[in-house]
Amino acid sequence: MNAYDEINIKLLEASKYIKNDVSDGTLEMITTPWREIVVSCPIKMDNGDTKVFSGYRIQHNAVRGPYKGGVRYHPDADQNEVKALSSLMTWKNALVNIPFGGAKGGIQVSAGDLSKSELHNLTKRYTLSIDKFLGPNTDIPAPDLGTNAQTMAWMMDAYGSIHGYTPAIVTGKPVELGGSVGRDSATGRGVVFVIDEICSNLKLNPQENSLAIQGFGQVGKWIAKIAYEKKYKIVAVSDVSNAIYNKNGINVDELVTHYEKDKSFANFENVDFISNNELLNLKCDFLVPAAIERVINKDNADKVQCKFLIEAANHPLTPEADDILESKNISVFPDTLVNSGGVIVSYFEWIQNLYQHHWEIERVNSELQKIITKAFNEVYDKSHSENINYRLSALSIGLDRVIHTAGLRGYI
Ligand code: NAD
Repeated sequence: MNAYDEINIKLLEASKYIKNDVSDGTLEMITTPWREIVVSCPIKMDNGDTKVFSGYRIQHNAVRGPYKGGVRYHPDADQNEVKALSSLMTWKNALVNIPFGGAKGGIQVSAGDLSKSELHNLTKRYTLSIDKFLGPNTDIPAPDLGTNAQTMAWMMDAYGSIHGYTPAIVTGKPVELGGSVGRDSATGRGVVFVIDEICSNLKLNPQENSLAIQGFGQVGKWIAKIAYEKKYKIVAVSDVSNAIYNKNGINVDELVTHYEKDKSFANFENVDFISNNELLNLKCDFLVPAAIERVINKDNADKVQCKFLIEAANHPLTPEADDILESKNISVFPDTLVNSGGVIVSYFEWIQNLYQHHWEIERVNSELQKIITKAFNEVYDKSHSENINYRLSALSIGLDRVIHTAGLRGYI
């Protein structure tokens, strides 16, 4: 089963818990992307050879507003994976109630293998290949796995070469080009707000709660930094090459300095080196996958020993893993809620660009907290009042909003 089918299984299950009447036609609408763009992106490599990369932009649904979602550079970013991620964006944006539909883009490439100028050319070619389907009121990309603020600056520049200066065409840009302060940390900060809410609801003390985090990129590193500031105990972190562990807690300030210098955990002191799989099996309070999809699946779900599984990555659990964790009474807090901080602050960035105005960091962080906490409470309350898990609760809230708006617009 591919990732897109896996998302649709959970959506159809969630559709049993919505307030709106739902017909077979409506179910077909929500499980079918509105537009799938496939492009080939030839570029000249530094050695003079020409290489062709496959690019995708999947526009899943736009009943609630312009398409919105990141662009991923990864060897596994094929059409089905990008479709799955585009669908998640529809349900995430609806859950946190921001006026966007869902989309996702991707190029099948190992970004680390390309030079800066090759990446620049590839980004430009991809943007110019899909530019007629983009626009500040049509479709607004953002960074994701393997892309960053620099990639967004290149996308903005390529789009601007045809349409003129348009900062609102992408979010997650450098601040000097109209990016929002607080966007770099937003996804990680949102994840920690969710963990804070769990602790506050269950009267848990951060200092007595441990986190193991898989991934130390844009999302994972900020989770570690912000949670460490709030006195949670960070017992393990990993990147694609290494995982490190200290049962008494890792000094994250020292780790970030070390990692920024060496781009690796190697030679960091006072930790044990373990495998990425061992990290997922650690006994801890909060296990936070913040790297790639489907890392917990039917082969390893049984070994997971955390109390709470916090989906900072998109789709880190297969449906089988979801069922296994539920049978082990592990509470899973779903991606559409947990990692929504990035798109929430992207929404703030888009507003700032449309008005040519800048918000202060305090306003960004407090508005983020307000929106994500409200969504958390809605998910939590519906889950407990209807006796369903948090994923079904989150998806069904998003579904209700999309279906209601589709009705208003005359689709159903
Ligand atoms: P990133 O490229 O900045 O970092 C990814 C991290 O995962 C790196 O530390 C990398 O070494 C590690 N990694 C890669 N492959 C791995 C593997 N096989 N095993 C273990 N670790 C591996 O990406 P990111 O932006 O931090 O995104 C991480 C996840 O969060 C993705 O699922 C993404 O869709 C999701 N997400 C990101 C944002 C955002 O604002 N960047 C927003 C919402 C969701």
